[in-house]
Amino acid sequence: MRAIALTPGVKDSARLQNLPEPPASDGALLVRTLALGVCGTDREIIAADYGEAPHGHDYLVLGHESLGVVEAAADGFAVGDHVVGIVRRPDPVPCPACAAGEWDMCRNGLYTERGIKGRHGFGSERFRLEPEFAVKVDRALGLLAVLLEPTSIVAKAFDHAERIAQRARSWRPQSLLVTGAGPIGLLAALMGRQRGLDVHVFDRNREGIKPALIRDLGAIHHPDLSDLGGFAPDIIMECTGAITVVKDVLGLTSPGGIVCLLSVTANRLMELDIGAFNRKTVLDNDALFGAVNANLDHYRMAADALAKADRTWLERLITRRVPLDRWSEALEHRKGDIKSVIDFAM
Ligand code: BGC
Repeated sequence: MRAIALTPGVKDSARLQNLPEPPASDGALLVRTLALGVCGTDREIIAADYGEAPHGHDYLVLGHESLGVVEAAADGFAVGDHVVGIVRRPDPVPCPACAAGEWDMCRNGLYTERGIKGRHGFGSERFRLEPEFAVKVDRALGLLAVLLEPTSIVAKAFDHAERIAQRARSWRPQSLLVTGAGPIGLLAALMGRQRGLDVHVFDRNREGIKPALIRDLGAIHHPDLSDLGGFAPDIIMECTGAITVVKDVLGLTSPGGIVCLLSVTANRLMELDIGAFNRKTVLDNDALFGAVNANLDHYRMAADALAKADRTWLERLITRRVPLDRWSEALEHRKGDIKSVIDFAM
């Protein structure tokens, strides 16, 4: 079968390669790939900044945003079911978090991730899954179900922000500022609106599809972070990956506010007045947390969010579909791109 493979640590080594069928040791469910979403993590792996081959292999099959159709059934899954694979597998120790099914909170870093760290991904014509790491999705969603994995990341962010919010019995967050209108930012805006929050989105694009998508959610678009006009959001979700924006959102919330950092940035020095930041954080009881990955509960929350969303709005998030033999085009940055998808049926 054809697969998108690369040599981790070797820049731009990604290629389409013929590989044997997925081994039974990958899980009892045999899945035919329908679509694969690409994201910044895939680009980082191709740039050799990230990624690790499975033990004993010198290559890694790329891809962690999956959608496929079951070809060989197993526990609770029938032939024809549409499924998405969970990305992370618990560490083998296991740490207390992994033992409790919260592999997204792994304490020892020995977890593996499909298509990212120590496990082959879903970027092949067929893949296998352990039934307990497969999530059934509504067939009616069609290709849109490929958005489940990125939505699970946002679902985790809301899950944790809402738990933090409960530390004060009297406080219910009313407003959300999302920075960045990429797929994660737009999905965060969607889930914020679904919760009835007053949603604001910062994105530099003044026109085009992103401002339109923000508006169509009933959210407010800010092309400039300095034009918030004194508005102090209760929750901020930082999704740009730009350290200047990360710096700008620190200390920007209302008292008791919550900042969730959702994007992975490169190491880079930047000046920050720690004294002022600490003073505001302490005196206002602010909270700042990071969030990565997702557990089964978050995938279920995500499935629910996608099921409730307007399909035509979701469709506009997938701005480019390319066939497997032109897979590399999906990784190019083009103006107006939101989510690019490799469509295995094209
Ligand atoms: C994936 C997560 C993963 C993270 C770090 C993200 O792109 O969506 O599942 O944990 O990368 O490897």
